[in-house]
Amino acid sequence: MPVAKTTKNSRPPRSFPPSLAGTCLRYAVMEVLGFGRLIDEESQLAMHAGSALHKTFQEELMRGRAMCRVEVAVKDETWGVSGRMDALLETGKGALVVEYKTVASQRFDAIAADGPLFSHWAQLQLYIAVGQLAGGVLVVDERPQGRRIIFSADPDPSWTVWLKARISQVKQHQSMRKLPEREISSACLTCDRWRRCFADPDVRDREVVAHPQWEPRPVAPDTRRFHLASDIVS
Ligand code: SF4
Repeated sequence: MPVAKTTKNSRPPRSFPPSLAGTCLRYAVMEVLGFGRLIDEESQLAMHAGSALHKTFQEELMRGRAMCRVEVAVKDETWGVSGRMDALLETGKGALVVEYKTVASQRFDAIAADGPLFSHWAQLQLYIAVGQLAGGVLVVDERPQGRRIIFSADPDPSWTVWLKARISQVKQHQSMRKLPEREISSACLTCDRWRRCFADPDVRDREVVAHPQWEPRPVAPDTRRFHLASDIVS
């Protein structure tokens, strides 16, 4: 019996990774289409340090908590999303997702002053929406290990609507294999795919100075309704 060959075009389209919920649309489309990234040495070191802290945090979380699972798979055909939650806690209020992030000191100061990073919050809200969870917790540690800040989140319908619209846009561009317009902002200065968007660093820097503010379409939920928490479950 002849065996059908698997061709590149017969592969199922890549699912949307939750970590990209709050990124530039063009970046997210590049990811699902498999575009490469240019990761510098500093970022690589930060990623290694973050992974080690991540493991330590999960061990800390598991200690003494019977109703805790780590690296919980999330796959939802309707949303077209696939990923892994850092942890899922069963509590008296219901199931809570726990998302863990590490950031350098300067960014930590900004988070302590202004609240969670948009990308972190979007990822947390996506897990809550897809998993229909009672809420979520975002734990941010300063790298190298130092200060910690904990935010807790409730389900938020305005985020659900926004996330659905953004993922739908990613899927549309993915099926057409077409990159969307750039969403220029100061994030372009540290983007590891910037070469797909600007001819050279001077052009990039000039364009970012002219347009430093990110303006996603549709407009992002304008408030981050978070609560500060003193412990992961409080
Ligand atoms: S360089 Fe800017 S516009 Fe291009 S993918 Fe990165 S963040 Fe988006």
